[in-house]
Amino acid sequence: VLAYLDDQRLFRQLAYCNGKWVNGDSDTPVLNPATGEVLGYTASLNATQINQTIDDAEAAFHLWRAESAETRAKLLMKWHDLIMENQHDLAHLMVLEQGKTLRDAEGEVEYGASFIHWFAEEAKRVYGDTMPSHIPNAHLATLREPIGVAALITPWNFPNAMITRKAAAALAIGCSVIVKPAEETPFSALALAELAERAGIPAGVFNVVMGDAPMVSTQLCQSDNVKALSFTGSTRVGRLLLEQSAQTVKKSAMELGGNAPFIVLPDMDIQQAARAAIDAKFQTSGQDCLAANKILVPRDKHQAFVDAFAALMDELEVGNGLLPSTDIGPLISARAVDKAQAIVDDAIAKGATVMGGKLNPNLGENFFAPTLITKVTPDMLVYQEENFCPVAGVIAYDNLDEAIAMGNDTEYGLSAYVYGNDIRDIWRCLRGLEVGMVSVNSVKMTGHPIPFGGVKQSGLGREGSRYGIDEFSEIKYYCLGGL
Ligand code: ADP
Repeated sequence: VLAYLDDQRLFRQLAYCNGKWVNGDSDTPVLNPATGEVLGYTASLNATQINQTIDDAEAAFHLWRAESAETRAKLLMKWHDLIMENQHDLAHLMVLEQGKTLRDAEGEVEYGASFIHWFAEEAKRVYGDTMPSHIPNAHLATLREPIGVAALITPWNFPNAMITRKAAAALAIGCSVIVKPAEETPFSALALAELAERAGIPAGVFNVVMGDAPMVSTQLCQSDNVKALSFTGSTRVGRLLLEQSAQTVKKSAMELGGNAPFIVLPDMDIQQAARAAIDAKFQTSGQDCLAANKILVPRDKHQAFVDAFAALMDELEVGNGLLPSTDIGPLISARAVDKAQAIVDDAIAKGATVMGGKLNPNLGENFFAPTLITKVTPDMLVYQEENFCPVAGVIAYDNLDEAIAMGNDTEYGLSAYVYGNDIRDIWRCLRGLEVGMVSVNSVKMTGHPIPFGGVKQSGLGREGSRYGIDEFSEIKYYCLGGL
């Protein structure tokens, strides 16, 4: 790892609790998914250490919330600047532990930092309301107050931005946070802690803990001192965490799975649609909750689309994310490869046609060829489940109502893509799709100004945007009577 870094002190392996680097009971190896090599070891904390961190974060919260919004904003801005100054190192750490391409990793560092910049500005604009009084001689108004210690449990597909999108909002309003990164990608989180320390964010305000995931999550969820839980990950784990948090009635934000439809409208240029679908499918090797999952194409254009998609897919280079020629890196683990293979096998068994892209057999065991599945039917896993792998399912539709219905035929409701020109068709999709986010004629839809989040079993709450602070704050109403 050190050979790739300009500043070797950004490679941290210990946990970061209350401003100290802390050893655990045991060490957990972290692997490079491209090579299988051990990159380093993280400290696994025990339950006592987790609880101590919660107590310290609670104490730090009271000091942090008492700082002026200006002070918090300045420290966040400093953190942002340090992250951008160290973009090269953070991106390399990310490629090593996550596998994505260096280009994507650099993009993610900038994307992650943009949330800190945004919320540093928002920190100064957290307003309350005043209401005309229905009570004689009284003044009625609200304050917005930080909720307290927030637990942030994050996934491995975006090891930097999923932390900053939550932490920046929480810190801006005056919460302290305890981050539990995914065990696959702790080094990006720990480098963020190193930079938070250098920025001068006080001890106990930004903490990073590691250890057995169910144990750590249980401690965080069951603690009465943790007032908010923000999770990004699978719907399965989200349900577990909600259940565990019910006992302490925690404010919970959940960014869970997606099964995004990609609807090609009848008047869309097929080459352009295929290019966009490729981009919406294969970023982060398909391990993205926004990845296009069901590509829906008018029946009379289906063959042309499949031909165009297959030709573009064939140009994609699978390999180590550090190589400039790579378009698609490895999957995160052997388990992820097994899951991808199971989706393909299931489709073949149920009568689908499968086309595979190029894959150099000398690559490690975590690599998976981009794959196109046609003749998809609703009973197949590729249709029903969040694929989370470089496997694309294309489905022909006869009319737009049918396409929208297929798009909605899932427990998920995160995002959708619509490509075409007719404004009436676009509007029908916009209103008909049961999702939190619709992107029309653009693959890129996320960023700091937009409310990111889903409906149905894709989650609760919104991140980023002016709404992001809501998840970490409470409205306090007051009535000044007898005036
Ligand atoms: P994946 O299975 O694709 O890794 P998860 O939703 O399981 O996605 O992972 C997201 C986060 O949830 C990670 O931080 C992981 O450590 C955590 N996690 C995984 N399993 C559990 C569990 N049983 N209880 C609590 N947290 C968990």
